Amino acid sequence: MNKAQGIKLSVVIPLYNEAENLPELYKQITASCGNLDIPFEMVFVDDGSADNSFQVLKELEAGDPRLKIIRLRRNFGQTAALSAGFDYARGEIIITLDADLQNDPGDFPLLIGKIEEGYDIVSGWRLKRKDKLISRRLPSVAANWFISRITKVKLHDYGCTLKAFRKDIVKNIKLYGEMHRFIPAIASTMGVTIAEVRVNHRPRIHGKSKYNISKSIRVFLDLLTVKFLLTYSTRPLQAFGLFGLITGGIGGILALILSYQRLILRVGISNRPLLLLAILLIVIGFQFITMGLLGEIMVRSYHETAEKHIYVIREVVDSEREDEP
Ligand code: UDP
Ligand code: MG
Repeated sequence: MNKAQGIKLSVVIPLYNEAENLPELYKQITASCGNLDIPFEMVFVDDGSADNSFQVLKELEAGDPRLKIIRLRRNFGQTAALSAGFDYARGEIIITLDADLQNDPGDFPLLIGKIEEGYDIVSGWRLKRKDKLISRRLPSVAANWFISRITKVKLHDYGCTLKAFRKDIVKNIKLYGEMHRFIPAIASTMGVTIAEVRVNHRPRIHGKSKYNISKSIRVFLDLLTVKFLLTYSTRPLQAFGLFGLITGGIGGILALILSYQRLILRVGISNRPLLLLAILLIVIGFQFITMGLLGEIMVRSYHETAEKHIYVIREVVDSEREDEP
């Protein structure tokens, strides 16, 4: 067995300008993982930090082969950094956490325990969140309520980075935008089991929060994408087509009424705003339907060129067949 196969746990940490936090974070992670007594690695993803985070990491790396550094060329954002870490990680279990010491590595055993019970994803719930009320906690209450309504994956705290995943879950997911908080929702289409555990949360002592209220808007837009992809990504015509039929249908009825008035009742319709509306609705209806049809073509090329299937297999049991299906 080579070394890489022996790694049981990968801890993935995205960081951006967190130099002061890193030595203490390293200490806490190694202490917590040391107690677990399993082979592990730490994957620090330096998301284009402008401070000396990378130098600090290099120093730590020199004394510990379990520490890996991925340095991105510029600041790509937390989601991209996590994604880079997922691609690199080799452990059977992958734990993600923030680099600012707000998440507590002391919670690892709790998360791993749940994974060992058989769950595919374990999500942290920061019951006593230590962040600013107006700019962070209030938007998050609203966002959590909304996300759980829309995605139908019931969690209390989507924004918590402290999560644990089985390897095959994160390796199968592609992330864009600010979507890391939607991993459980995206993964739910694969048919995963999700558990939630209460975790510790601590105030940020060094460095600054990288986010402000404008993030809420971006998260909302991403939610729209996720919702659409979750529900209609393999059948766009059913989404657009329905709108198209409704608007086109209303437009058609209005046009019929107007035609009746003009041709049978001989009422002039040149000064009727309704005429404009009818034309508008008919055009919009056609456009929605064509958009749906274009969507159908795009879905096909997406799934066929990228060899993406419309299903996800857990395992195949076939003792005769040796090649991978
Ligand atoms: N982060 C990152 N790239 C970014 C912004 C943030 O890797 O562009 C990291 C950051 O260093 C931290 C984590 O993502 O480890 C969460 O960020 P932060 O603590 O600023 O968010 P908050 O806790 O305020 O939500
Ligand atoms: Mg933080």
